[in-house]
Amino acid sequence: MNTDSPRGTKQSLSPGATIGILGGGQLGQMLALAGARLGLKTHIYSPSADCPAASTAAQLTVGEYEDTEAVLSFAKSCDAVTYEFENVPAQTAKAAASAAPLRPSARALDVSQDRLVEKSFLRDQLGLDVAGFEDVGSIHDLRRAVKRLGLPCVLKTRRFGYDGKGQVIIRTDAVNGSDIEAAWEALAPAPCILEAFVPFAREVSIVAARGVNGDIAAYPLTENIHENHILKTSSAPAGQDDGSAANMAASILEQLNYVGVMGVEFFQMSDGQLIVNEIAPRVHNSGHWTQDAGCTDQFEQHMRAVAGWPLGDANPRHKVVMTNLIGDQVSAWKTLAQQPGVFLHLYGKSEIRKGRKMGHVNQITG
Ligand code: AMP
Repeated sequence: MNTDSPRGTKQSLSPGATIGILGGGQLGQMLALAGARLGLKTHIYSPSADCPAASTAAQLTVGEYEDTEAVLSFAKSCDAVTYEFENVPAQTAKAAASAAPLRPSARALDVSQDRLVEKSFLRDQLGLDVAGFEDVGSIHDLRRAVKRLGLPCVLKTRRFGYDGKGQVIIRTDAVNGSDIEAAWEALAPAPCILEAFVPFAREVSIVAARGVNGDIAAYPLTENIHENHILKTSSAPAGQDDGSAANMAASILEQLNYVGVMGVEFFQMSDGQLIVNEIAPRVHNSGHWTQDAGCTDQFEQHMRAVAGWPLGDANPRHKVVMTNLIGDQVSAWKTLAQQPGVFLHLYGKSEIRKGRKMGHVNQITG
């Protein structure tokens, strides 16, 4: 049967179709731009009228994510719905999926929203290497988990962590002023997991897409450098890439019967071993370099997948270094815009705030 939604929407949409996007941040902004190039209209659903995607999408609905009636009527106006952040509430995703094909599906959200579910899925269902972890619901659990995993280790909230928020490193178990107590006090009463600290050589990621027909396209491995827990630069291709990251990404995409672009973050050890850190069921900051690499960029790739179209060419013609413009670094935009081989992307956010991603530049390096 050529249908996958209650109202019989076709698997493959035609140019002119409307793709709904839950979320109106910079990822939504760039998805809408890429969609427009393909003749696809986008309809953004966001709690804020003044969001980056408002200026690039054909339509905007302002509403709360918890307002399932508003989400339902938004989804009814779309031929397919996607999302640009992973904390879409389960009932929101359910409401959207009842009215239009939701790509990627709600299952990808269930897995990626909760670090315990995510790590168990990666390790137990797919046999991938992840940092040692333990479920922590009390100070008692935490003490026991620290004994099992050893020091140092990282306590993280199971849900809603990003850019280093919701996590604390535990280095010592001093009798007085113990890091263990301090870490628990910082995050309790949120359910947490404790992770063994991974002494990685570098952080890398892979961005890959899966189409409605099951085709998979992966971009090359990307090396990521963080500053203050926020991604600073992504360099691609990262080198030392034996294809195993792409294979792991493919197995995750297949297991989830996923449609769309996904980011998979890894810790790479000095012997090359890859340990999966986390998955993001959306276009990913470490894939922004693809916009100026001479291939189908990740935003177009995602729109193609969601529309049920063939995936595009994921082989870059150039080496690119992407640098995020964080907080007032964006003030240098005019100088950056004048440099040869540097491509400027600004998100149009009205207010500069410390730690806020305001834009990025892609520099061609080869
Ligand atoms: P996350 O929110 O899990 O992506 O963590 C943010 C950053 O914290 C990562 O990119 C790493 O730099 C660091 N980090 C997180 N978990 C660990 C770990 N288990 N071992 C070492 N570093 C970690």
